[in-house]
Amino acid sequence: MKPLRSLHFKTILASCSLGVSISGCGSHNTVLNTLQSQTVLTPASGDSITHKYPVLTSDELKKIRPNEDGEVPILEYHNVFLKSNSPYSRTVAGLKNDLNFLYKLNYRPISMRSYLDNRINIPAGKSPVILSFDDADASQFQYLPNGEISPNCAVGVLIAFHKLHPDWRLRGIFFVLPDNAFGRLDERSKKLNALLKMGFEIGNHTITHPQLSKLSSVRVQWELAQNVARIKVLAPKADDDVLALPYGVAPRNRKLALSGSWNGLKYHNRAVMLAGAQPAPAVIDKKFRAIAVPRVQPVPGKYGMVFWLKYMQEHPGMKYISDGNPKLTTIPKSCLHNINRKRLNGAKLRVY
Ligand SMILES: [Zn+2]
Repeated sequence: MKPLRSLHFKTILASCSLGVSISGCGSHNTVLNTLQSQTVLTPASGDSITHKYPVLTSDELKKIRPNEDGEVPILEYHNVFLKSNSPYSRTVAGLKNDLNFLYKLNYRPISMRSYLDNRINIPAGKSPVILSFDDADASQFQYLPNGEISPNCAVGVLIAFHKLHPDWRLRGIFFVLPDNAFGRLDERSKKLNALLKMGFEIGNHTITHPQLSKLSSVRVQWELAQNVARIKVLAPKADDDVLALPYGVAPRNRKLALSGSWNGLKYHNRAVMLAGAQPAPAVIDKKFRAIAVPRVQPVPGKYGMVFWLKYMQEHPGMKYISDGNPKLTTIPKSCLHNINRKRLNGAKLRVY
């Protein structure tokens, strides 16, 4: 599968280089220090909004310059090995470096659900990042013989980082192939349910990891509906309503990526993730298209993770910066024409 992915990724990069949409509707200063009084953490088990959130004063607005119409990097990981010479895998040390880099740049992880709901819940001045893991590779989640989670799998790395930095919550989405999830068949259900309990989410990545463009409509719907049916058995509480396209390749009838049915089994995906190669628009931005949400791969070079994180530092108007209040959507006046108000989803719009 690797050569195909590599080839396709090159295609994505090539097409991206022709048409990268560099947005940014405000001219912002570098993110300033977060006000300690704004720091609000939700319970690790979910993103339920139970706190009273402060509203920034006009002085705080000038300092923090929130932009909740800014873009959000959705990182796309695959394998996480101790050693690797493939650019499409990450080493354990590489993943740790990524987390440190993101943390220092004031990113904090959020759930896919809170992004799609327009309910991003991080302190004022911080920027959201979504970690996604495709393929349910064994290297993403392993138990040691003593029953503890291995510190050298992706989940173990995230747990260790959370212990060091409690304001880096356990958030991320695993796009799972249910028939070989994380290597051991007998541990699939235990691992999927453990992920949900920790605060992670589970998404659809089909059953057999095909190029959906090569399949009949019936077969496409079988792949997506069967994923939902099998995850339902293994982890009944999983939403499993976001799809990551294998190789980033859409079915010929693109709408089938969003919804369909097979033999009475229905599925509906709130969003469809691509394989590359740029940060995603805010859900309230008119550019947001649920059928094609871009992601960023932690690969070296142009349009990889470091490229984009540096680019967003140099173009801060492009970056999503939180106002610390998930019930309020705060944007600079220059972004107002970009807003799709239907997607505010009940949040109040504050323009400054
Ligand atoms: Zn995949």
